[in-house]
Amino acid sequence: MSWQSLLADSLTSAAEISRRFPAADSGVIEEVSRQYPMRINPYYWGLIKDIADPLWRQAVPSSLELKDMVCEADPLAEEKLSPAVNLVHKYPDRVLFLVSSQCAMYCRFCTRKRKVGTAAMVIDDATIALGLDYIRRTPAIRDVLISGGDPLLLSDERLEWILAGVRAIPHVDIIRIGTRVPCVLPMRVSHRLCVMLKRYHPLYINTHFNHPAELTTEAASACGRLADAGIPLGCQTVLLRGVNDNSEVIKALLRGLLRIRVRPYYLFQGDMTRGTDHFRTRIDTGLTIMKSLIGHISGMAIPHFAVDAPGGGGKIPLLPDYVISRGEKLVFNNYCGEICSYPDGY
Ligand SMILES: *Cc1c(COP(=O)(O)O)cnc(C)c1O
Ligand code: SF4
Repeated sequence: MSWQSLLADSLTSAAEISRRFPAADSGVIEEVSRQYPMRINPYYWGLIKDIADPLWRQAVPSSLELKDMVCEADPLAEEKLSPAVNLVHKYPDRVLFLVSSQCAMYCRFCTRKRKVGTAAMVIDDATIALGLDYIRRTPAIRDVLISGGDPLLLSDERLEWILAGVRAIPHVDIIRIGTRVPCVLPMRVSHRLCVMLKRYHPLYINTHFNHPAELTTEAASACGRLADAGIPLGCQTVLLRGVNDNSEVIKALLRGLLRIRVRPYYLFQGDMTRGTDHFRTRIDTGLTIMKSLIGHISGMAIPHFAVDAPGGGGKIPLLPDYVISRGEKLVFNNYCGEICSYPDGY
């Protein structure tokens, strides 16, 4: 079955969900998905075991999405930081270029929940042309992050048209694609796609896995095909309450990612996006998890833990506190909690 027909077979109605899981509240699912779209493709649906499954929580609408009175529609001020529609320029040398409004699954915790998969996200030839134009006349831009939505939901031809447009700009050093497809619809990563992507090096892909149960043989093959095309793979995981907010789950995920040739890149504190408050954890949860990782597992497996500052301040890395005192000597705890020191007084 082609990825397009798999996608066309996605669950979009509450009735289909309660047919398999009678305990699901189809009234709630119906109501929530009117505001925030639902799409669960047959591949991801097949991985869900029951209604307490961490994969269920990521995919199926919850009544809590409509009860969030704390968070904001656009907490990272992306719209304010867009010099062209769907192009966010926040940091000096890189931009975020949104080229697709569609995803292979609509994650309930999505940071761009305000628009992804809805009519509010308008992307067409004209918005792409305006984005390319801005990059072309802004020589400080060296790194273009192609995201969305999910860029791999575009046809190979359309994605190539965009990649070629970016690659033709001399001051752009690297192109990155942000995509959840290797996790949620790995069969989209065809040999033909990889042959095309290979023409636009240096190209990096950051994918997005949140739970070890997502590391299937299909996902491993998709990542293998991309890696074989010479594309370095990173992973941007979001810390989610009830999904992956403990050390054992994160450790299993990170080790599993290295086995499928994906290098963990970021572990994100949840953004304050309206409709996602119930997923947010305490900062301390993330720091405790980081402490359980650093020194205990391969450094290759360890992501940066970061919080994206509300208001558009950017990503700030957070580390557990190791330092006890500074002066002539730096006194600190090592990863096992033993006290060590380093003479710093020269
Ligand atoms: C996350 C992000 C980037 C990339 O940040 P890195 O730390 O370089 O991965 C760029 N632009 C925007 C708007 C972002 O949100
Ligand atoms: S794949 Fe990414 S952009 Fe799409 S719904 Fe999930 S988190 Fe949002």
